Amino acid sequence: MNQNERICHEKTPKGIQTALDDLAVRKPGLSSLVSAFGPVLVAKAELTERLSEDEINKPDIPESDWIRFSKGVHLFAITGLMDFQKEFKQAAHMILPPIAEAFSGIGADIEAIERNIADDSLDADDCVQAFVKNYTRNITAFAARAGTSPDIFRFALAQIAEPFKEIQARAFSPLIEGHQWPHGHCPMCGSFPAVAGLIGEGEARWLQCSVCAHEWRFSRHTCPRCENNEQSSLEYFFDQDSPAKDEERVSVCKLCNTYLLTIALRQPTGPVNMDVAAMGMIGLENQARGKGFSPQAAMLWNLME
Ligand SMILES: [Zn+2]
Ligand SMILES: [Zn+2]
Repeated sequence: MNQNERICHEKTPKGIQTALDDLAVRKPGLSSLVSAFGPVLVAKAELTERLSEDEINKPDIPESDWIRFSKGVHLFAITGLMDFQKEFKQAAHMILPPIAEAFSGIGADIEAIERNIADDSLDADDCVQAFVKNYTRNITAFAARAGTSPDIFRFALAQIAEPFKEIQARAFSPLIEGHQWPHGHCPMCGSFPAVAGLIGEGEARWLQCSVCAHEWRFSRHTCPRCENNEQSSLEYFFDQDSPAKDEERVSVCKLCNTYLLTIALRQPTGPVNMDVAAMGMIGLENQARGKGFSPQAAMLWNLME
């Protein structure tokens, strides 16, 4: 695949910080959003940078599992998630404080979870197992120990797990090369995209997973969420007030009533951080919501409404 046909990503903590600073200057109205959620993006990138995809064992996947994959079963459902208990405490320490700041309504709960992980009142291994296997009873018990609700506890664990999923997706991405994936959910973790990039003259569409950041090419004329391809029910619109209106758009599907943020990336394009770019499109999101559409997958800043 010609690399020019793919999105060129900016994923370093420093590059993300620069993109955030630029956004705050370009759209001063978003500066409080940038200062609330920017540190979370940077913390996740710092953690991802510490982890090495080379240390992740790549499994041998039998033909029978590739048949399941071809039918839409995502790869992590076949292989399971990597063990991340070794790095879990450090990850919680890096991720949870900026989350507590960003979500002030549950800030005290998130801080309590972080404290309980830091002093081993909550065991890293137990937390990871409860999360990975989705043991509801354990999640409920651990949440109670930290004095919070199962939903908030699950949210905190999901936030900690994200960089690990991203690293695993990077490590596994050579495995799925050569395998077709004509689906709208992520071939790695099964989540839906929150943002898409259109590349080059032909505007090939790449979807970016909202959880593991894996990206995959997908038909421009099909809704990722419900795989509807009836053109009369698919539309997109621009933010009329944005100076970058022809580059930023939102695709909507009137069948499943969802929207997807979409960025047309001209060639040649410099590296772009899709999360920061999506943050800058909050005005378009608000328009889409105002018209009654829901996100295909929520970004961090519209997770807890
Ligand atoms: Zn994913
Ligand atoms: Zn749809």
